[in-house]
Amino acid sequence: MLERKALVVGCGVAGPAVAVALRWAGFEVALREARPEPDDAAGGWMMIMPNGLSVLRTLGVEPALRAEGTACDRIVFRDHDNRRLAEVPLPGALSVRRGALHRVLRERAVAAGADVAFGRRLVEVEQSRHGVAGSFEDGTVDAADLLVGCDGPWSRVRAVTMTEARPARYTGIISSAGVCRPGGPALSRHTLEDLLGRRLPVRYATQDSGEVFWSCNTVLPDRPGDDWPAVADNAWRDRLLAEADGGDSPAAALIAATRAIIRQPIYEVPPLDAWHRGRICLVGDAAHAFPPFGGQGASMALEDAVTLARELRDRPGIEAAFTAYERGRRPRVARVAAVARNNRRSLGARSTASRWLRNRMLPVGVRLSAGAARRMYSHEIDWRD
Ligand SMILES: Cc1cc2nc3c(=O)[nH]c(=O)nc-3n(C[C@H](O)[C@H](O)[C@H](O)COP(=O)(O)OP(=O)(O)OC[C@H]3O[C@@H](n4cnc5c(N)ncnc54)[C@H](O)[C@@H]3O)c2cc1C
Repeated sequence: MLERKALVVGCGVAGPAVAVALRWAGFEVALREARPEPDDAAGGWMMIMPNGLSVLRTLGVEPALRAEGTACDRIVFRDHDNRRLAEVPLPGALSVRRGALHRVLRERAVAAGADVAFGRRLVEVEQSRHGVAGSFEDGTVDAADLLVGCDGPWSRVRAVTMTEARPARYTGIISSAGVCRPGGPALSRHTLEDLLGRRLPVRYATQDSGEVFWSCNTVLPDRPGDDWPAVADNAWRDRLLAEADGGDSPAAALIAATRAIIRQPIYEVPPLDAWHRGRICLVGDAAHAFPPFGGQGASMALEDAVTLARELRDRPGIEAAFTAYERGRRPRVARVAAVARNNRRSLGARSTASRWLRNRMLPVGVRLSAGAARRMYSHEIDWRD
C-alpha cells in the first residue's frame, strides 16, 4: 500500500497539474510556491498544443482555458514577401496568456482539495527511509511521504537532491514577446503565422479580442546579467525593428505597435542521469527544460504530471512508480526536445542563398515530417482507473 502524503514544490504549470491528479489518486497534497502571490496578469503568452490540451481536458480545465484564449488550428509559414510556403495543421491548439493557464490550473488544484500556499520558497530537502521534509525560506517545514519538484529550470529541488547535476545553461538566445493592437489591414485569424522574414522570424496569433500576440527569438551569445531588465528598452526595440526587415514589414508593424516588449534569456537543463532519487521526483522543466521552439514545454510538463500521478496510483511503491514514470516519459520528451532544437535552425537565414534554400526546403521538410508532427500532437495520456 502506498504512503499517501505528497509535497509538491512549484505552482506554475506542472505543480498544480500534479496536485489535481494526485488528489484524484487519493493523496493528501501540499502545493508550495515561492512567488509571494499569484500572478494571473503575468505578461507573455503561449501556445498550448493539441497534446497539452488533451491533458487539460483530462484535468477538467479545458473549457475554462478555452474561454480565456483563442483557437489556433494551423501554423502557416511565410517568406519575406508574405508568400505562403507551407502549412501544418494544429487541430484544437490554443493561444492564451500564461497567467490564465496558471490561474485555471491553480483553481482546479484548490477545488480538488490541495492545500496551496504562496510565499513559500523551498531551500532544503531531507529524506530518510521513513519520509521526506522540505524546509522553506520563511522557516516553515512540510513533511510528506514523497516530494515532487515542479520548480522549473532553476529547480532548487534538483540542486539539493542531485548535487552532481549541472545547472541550467544559457542557449545564446533571447526571446522577445508582446501583445499589441496594430492598425492597418485585418490579420488572419485562428492561425499561428510564422513570418520567416529576411533575418528575424516573427510569429503571431490574432486573438478573438482583436489583440495580436507575437514573439521572436534573437541570437545574443553573451548571457545578459541578472540586472538586465525583463521589459525591453528602446535600444532593444530598435534592434528588433532593424532585424525585422526595416520599418514596413508586417513583423516590424507588430513590434512598433507594442508598448511593453517582454524579453527573456532562454535556458535549457543539461540531461540528467535520473529524474528521481529516493522519495523525490522531478517533473516538467525541473527535469528537462528545452528551448521553446516547438511550443511544447508546457504540454510536456502536463503530460509528465498526469503520468506520474497515474503511476503512483497504480504501482505498489514510490520507487516503482517513479521508475515507471521516467521510463515512460524519457523517450517522448527526448523526441519532442529534438524537434524543438531542430527548429532553432529557422532562427536565421541571413544570406540570399540560405533564404532561397530555406524557402525551398521548408515545404519538403513539412511534408516529410507530417507523420511525426501528427504523432507528437495526437499523443494522449490514459488516466482511466
Ligand atoms: C519565452 C518562453 C516562451 C515559451 N513558450 C511556450 C509555449 O508557447 N508553449 C509551451 O508549451 N511552452 C512554452 N514555454 C515553455 C514553458 O513555459 C515551460 O516548459 C513550462 O512553464 C514548464 O512548466 P513547469 O511547471 O515545469 O515550470 P514553471 O512554469 O517554470 O513553474 C515553476 C514554478 O516553480 C516556482 N519555484 C521555483 N523555485 C521555487 C522554490 N525554490 N520553491 C517554491 N517554488 C519555486 C516558480 O516560481 C514557478 O511558479 C516557453 C518558455 C519560455 C521561456
